[in-house]
Amino acid sequence: VKDQGKNHYQFYDSNMSALAEYRIHLETSLYRALHEHQLLLHYQPQVDVQTGDIIGLEALIRWQHPQEGIIGPNTFIPLLEETGLIMPVGEWALYSACAQRQQWYQQRNLPPYTSISVNLSVRQLLSGNIVHTVKKVLSVTGLAPQLLDLEITESMLMEDIKFAIQELGHLKKLGVSISMDDFGTGYSSLSYLKKLPIDTVKIDRSFIEDLPNDVDAASIVRAIIGLAHSLGLNVIAEGVENERALAFLKSLGCDYCQGYLFSPPLVADELLIKFNKLKHQ
Ligand code: C2E
Ligand code: CA
Ligand code: CA
Ligand code: CA
Repeated sequence: VKDQGKNHYQFYDSNMSALAEYRIHLETSLYRALHEHQLLLHYQPQVDVQTGDIIGLEALIRWQHPQEGIIGPNTFIPLLEETGLIMPVGEWALYSACAQRQQWYQQRNLPPYTSISVNLSVRQLLSGNIVHTVKKVLSVTGLAPQLLDLEITESMLMEDIKFAIQELGHLKKLGVSISMDDFGTGYSSLSYLKKLPIDTVKIDRSFIEDLPNDVDAASIVRAIIGLAHSLGLNVIAEGVENERALAFLKSLGCDYCQGYLFSPPLVADELLIKFNKLKHQ
């Protein structure tokens, strides 16, 4: 038994150092990724439930790894946050998304009102620099502030709620809009909805995926939409994958939808093709 315990420990230990090694490796590669332009954005349309029009695009980061191909953000965003690399990467994403939106618009590929949504991490929001950064990006790209939407998650606000509210207020004064991402997954959603200067609530995919069959999810979604609307907020449902979910959301008066039913996130060129297809449907 003792031996087994020891072996078990050694196994665990060597695993741990392998993990640590892997993380250092990953960190170095991510640093290189940023500087060697291996990071890119995919774009996913946000659709008006009533008209079917595309009203916005969400920018989602990807890593085009030289050996491993395209890597999604769930594997590397946490590490970017821990190491602080999220600051330059986040600023790159913000700038690139706004610049892309402007380029499409200037080439007359997008209607003038199409907004661009960019995800912000907690580090960025609480850095003390975010207002300056957003102002700079708007001025360099020439994007109208009304067309920029910043997505934040509720859990990240809790780290310093007072400062978060203050910074969000300053951002709102610039004219940009704020969306509460992954809504429903945090623990104090309801009490903060009123206090936070936000425009839109994005209902988390976990509540949407089993609609309309899951009666609990259906009740929660109904309640969120009712509450958001009574506070004067817009609602986007994320992760809409089928017509039945869409029909149900429409019946509840949900404003906007996003999900594979309309389009997965796509690279810029593909997105444009998709956009024209959806437009002519
Ligand atoms: P999120 O903001 O909640 O983004 C939605 C995620 O759901 C995306 O995953 C998207 O590809 C996926 N998705 C969209 N529609 C559907 C659907 O119909 N079904 C299913 N099953 N999934 C769908 P992705 O691109 O892997 O992004 C994961 C998370 O990474 C994002 O979650 C966001 O929190 C974070 N992220 C992405 N880009 C950035 C960025 O530039 N900065 C920061 N700070 N975070 C980012
Ligand atoms: Ca998001
Ligand atoms: Ca989300
Ligand atoms: Ca989510």
